[in-house]
Amino acid sequence: MIATIDSIYEVLERVTDPEVPVLTILDLGIVRKVELKEDQVVITITSTYMGCPAMDMIAAQIRMEMAAAGYGSVRIEHSIRPAWTTEWMSEAGKEKLKAYGIAPPDKRFSIPEDGVECPRCSSRNTRLVSEFGSTACKALYQCRDCQDPFDYFKCH
Ligand SMILES: [Zn+2]
Repeated sequence: MIATIDSIYEVLERVTDPEVPVLTILDLGIVRKVELKEDQVVITITSTYMGCPAMDMIAAQIRMEMAAAGYGSVRIEHSIRPAWTTEWMSEAGKEKLKAYGIAPPDKRFSIPEDGVECPRCSSRNTRLVSEFGSTACKALYQCRDCQDPFDYFKCH
């Protein structure tokens, strides 16, 4: 097997966010760097959220997928600066989030009080219910039109 950066990215495309399984780590924009160093692959990732427990799972999943693809020696490095921001999320990723029922990050505010677009009916007549949704990375909203509660992926 000849390792190439492209083939490694193809493997990384199979690693998804354990909290939002429709998003790959490439959609999230957390893969900062992929390097081939002699016989070792070095993958540098940035945590989406300080202390986010999903990051350990993501690192474990990267190792598993890389091993399954035949890469024996993989090192995962964590880059702390610059901090990840939701700006790094791909447009395709934001569309997938919305289709999954989670409002994608809105760059106006980190946690808007209201006016977040409802992923189900697209109404902006929504209100913040709780700063913490199903996980610390999300806030809980409710739509005043369709009454559905939904998660908003916090901007940071
Ligand atoms: Zn709605």
